[in-house]
Amino acid sequence: MKPVYNFCAGPAMLPAEVMQKAQREFVNWQNHGISVMEFSHRDKHFMAVAEAAEQNLRKLMNIPDNYKVLFSHGGGRGQFAAVPLNLIGLTGKADYLVTGSWSKAAVAEGKKFGEINVVAQPSVVGGLNAVASPNEWQLSDDASYFHYCPNETVDGIEMFNEPEVGVPLVADMSSTILSREIDVSKYGVIYAGAQKNIGPSGLSIVIVREDLLGHALDVTPSIIDYKTMSDNDSMYNTPPTYAWYLAGEVFKWLLDQGGVPAIEALNKKKADLLYDFIDSSDYYRNGVEPSFRSRMNVTFQLADEADNAAFLAGAEEAGLMALKGHRSVGGMRASIYNAMPLAGVEALVQYMEQFQQR
Ligand SMILES: *Cc1c(COP(=O)(O)O)cnc(C)c1O
Repeated sequence: MKPVYNFCAGPAMLPAEVMQKAQREFVNWQNHGISVMEFSHRDKHFMAVAEAAEQNLRKLMNIPDNYKVLFSHGGGRGQFAAVPLNLIGLTGKADYLVTGSWSKAAVAEGKKFGEINVVAQPSVVGGLNAVASPNEWQLSDDASYFHYCPNETVDGIEMFNEPEVGVPLVADMSSTILSREIDVSKYGVIYAGAQKNIGPSGLSIVIVREDLLGHALDVTPSIIDYKTMSDNDSMYNTPPTYAWYLAGEVFKWLLDQGGVPAIEALNKKKADLLYDFIDSSDYYRNGVEPSFRSRMNVTFQLADEADNAAFLAGAEEAGLMALKGHRSVGGMRASIYNAMPLAGVEALVQYMEQFQQR
């Protein structure tokens, strides 16, 4: 069978080695005669899995000791509610930077729980999509926190520098976590749905600075109250244990690859290869201002929209799956997360070259 490369934005491809290991031990885990997913979450064997996953994530991201790591339910969107429920009570108000679809969705959810001030909308520079420049942001002087999305998965827009604001920085890192080095100490809260760069769907990771625990609104459901979750080591209720185990295996795999610096170098190489090819072609086009081009989600359009169906059909035949852009923006999107090997991007570029010649 020829290799198949899956460019899906999420749930996304997982490292083959991780899935093969999971398959080998699926029914009979560590010779216990049962699956890891059949263990009680409070059993010492599963607790060891849970603890190792957290420690390896701490190692990968250099998470300082004054931060808690939570393994939660509800994906990225669950955090669109959890963040304001936990933090907006500080002043009743929060600042949100809108850079694309996901940060916009976070605003809509946040409005249910307090006053949301949108500091800026997406901007266009020379006909290319960009992030509004910080000197245009309308910050409020009493925000509980500042929320933004460093990588807009749908729009293919990434911000590589942290905003400098005087309030806790909250980041939706669903599609950029672990893809490049991040200084965790600059953040109040980092969260991510797992299904892009961490593991299967059903799990979300929350990294929260300790002083931000204990401010939740009274109505906050306990399973998304950061303090309750933290006090119970993310086992206030039954966590998604199998997803947690698989995330732990992905963390081990990432450490074996050389950790975040090594994968960052590879991610840069993959993205450069694709963008350089797009730029060199007059048939394909990327509509994002170069300094904001996402390394994880590369969006592109064909010169003639009418070719889209043929492009996608040919791609599938060549073993290149899920290249269709999000329905809200159209065009194409290649999601090239950590698990995508360089060979997958090379195969895509080769196919794009052949297609444009036809
Ligand atoms: C995928 C994604 C989400 C939504 O995640 P769900 O787990 O489906 O709720 C939120 N934010 C970003 C940046 C994403 O990429």
